[in-house]
Amino acid sequence: MDGSLPEAPIPAFTEADEAQFLDTIRKWLDRDVKPHVMALEREDTYPSEMVGQMRGLGLFGATIAPEYGGLGMPAATYARIVSLISETWMSLTGIFNSHLIMAAAVQRFGTDGQKSRFLPRFASGEIRGGLALTEPDCGTDLQAIRGRAVRDGDDYVINGTKTWISNGIEGSCFALLVKTDPDIEPRHRGLSMFLAEKRDGFRVSRKLGKLGYKGIDSAELIFEDYRVPADCLIGAEEGRGFRHAVAGLELGRINVAARGVGVAKAALDAAVSYSQIRETFGKPICEHQAIQLKLAEMATRCEAAKLLVEQAAQAYDKGERCDMEAGMAKYFASEAAMENSAEAMRIHGGYGYSTELPVERYYRDAPLMCIGEGTNEMQRIIIARQLIARDRQ
Ligand SMILES: Cc1cc2nc3c(=O)[nH]c(=O)nc-3n(C[C@H](O)[C@H](O)[C@H](O)COP(=O)(O)OP(=O)(O)OC[C@H]3O[C@@H](n4cnc5c(N)ncnc54)[C@H](O)[C@@H]3O)c2cc1C
Repeated sequence: MDGSLPEAPIPAFTEADEAQFLDTIRKWLDRDVKPHVMALEREDTYPSEMVGQMRGLGLFGATIAPEYGGLGMPAATYARIVSLISETWMSLTGIFNSHLIMAAAVQRFGTDGQKSRFLPRFASGEIRGGLALTEPDCGTDLQAIRGRAVRDGDDYVINGTKTWISNGIEGSCFALLVKTDPDIEPRHRGLSMFLAEKRDGFRVSRKLGKLGYKGIDSAELIFEDYRVPADCLIGAEEGRGFRHAVAGLELGRINVAARGVGVAKAALDAAVSYSQIRETFGKPICEHQAIQLKLAEMATRCEAAKLLVEQAAQAYDKGERCDMEAGMAKYFASEAAMENSAEAMRIHGGYGYSTELPVERYYRDAPLMCIGEGTNEMQRIIIARQLIARDRQ
C-alpha cells in the first residue's frame, strides 16, 4: 500500500460480509488460538504468530475506512467480533483495539495528509500502536496530565511519562496526549494529541506486571526531549486533544463492554458444561436448584449485557451522541464478567481455582474491564449526568 487513494469509493462492510467474517474468525480461533492460549497465558508471552494472523485477517484495519485499506466495519459488527475473540482469549482484543482508537482519532480529526500517510499503514498492521493518555499520577483526571509539548521551529519537543500503555513495547506509534498550554482555562483547551513514532527521545522504561490480561504488553513510556514534527499534531490545531481523547473513549468503551460480554459468556458456557458432568449426591450438579439459580442469573446477565452493547454500538454507527449508552454497556458488561467469572469458579468447586482450566483466567481478566477506558465509578457519574442533561432538554 502506498497511501494513495483509489478513485471510486469502495463499498462498506455488509451483513453478508459480517456473517462470513465471523465464521472465518470462529475457525481461526478453533484452529490457531485455542490450542495455544493456556501456554501463552502461563508464560505471559506476546502472541507474535497470532498477531501476524490478525494482520492477515485485516483486524488492524477493522474499523478503518475502505479507502484507506481498512474493512470499514460498523461498530456493531466490530463489537460482535471483539466478544467472540474474548470468549477465547480477551488479551488478543487489546492488541488491535487501542490501535484502532488511535486510528479513529486520525480518521475523524486528522488532516488529509495525516490520513493518507498513516491510515493505510495502520490498516495493514505495518504500524501498530495504541493510545498514550495515562500518567503515573493521573488517569481519570486526564486534564491534570503533566506531559508537555513545546513548539520549536517545525517541531514540538515533548517531555513526560506515560504509564499502563497497552502495546507499549511491541507497538511503534502512539496517539500521545500532552499539554501544549499548561496555564489556559478551561484546562482541556491546553491539551493536544500527537502521533508519536518511536525514535530518539522516546523509550520504554519497563514492562508492567499484571494480575491478568497476559500476553499483551503494558508498559511505561518515557519522553525526553523527544522531537515530533509539527505535522504530527492531530488535526493541525493545538487545544483539541481532550476532545480527540474523549471521542475515542466512546468506541473504546463499546469495545471494553464487548470484551465483558465475551468473558461473561465464556464463564457461563464453562459453567453450563461442567455442571452437567460433575455429580454430587447421585446426580449432576445442574440438577441442584442452587446451581440452576446461578446459571439462570449468569445467562440473563450475558443477554442483558449483549443488548446494551448492541444499543450503544448502533447509536455510535448512526453518529449519535452515545456516552450514556456506551457507559451503561461498559459498566454493566464488565460487572457481568466479574460476577459470572466468580460464579463459574464457585460452580467448578476446587477445579475453578486450578490453573489447568480457563475459569481462573476469566476471574483474573474481568476486573480490568471495570478499570480501563474510564473506571466504573466514572461510568455511573457519566450516566447520571447525561440522564439529567437529557431530561432538561
Ligand atoms: C492493564 C491496563 C491497561 C491499560 N491500558 C491503557 C492504555 O493503553 N492507555 C492509557 O492511556 N491508559 C491505559 N490504562 C490506564 C487506565 O485507563 C487507568 O488505570 C484508568 O483510567 C484509571 O486511572 P488511574 O489508574 O489513574 O486511577 P485514578 O484516576 O487514580 O482513580 C482511583 C480511584 O478513584 C476513583 N475516582 C477518581 N475520580 C473520581 C471521581 N471524580 N468520582 C468518583 N471516583 C473517582 C476511580 O474510579 C478509582 O476507583 C490501562 C490500565 C491497565 C490496568
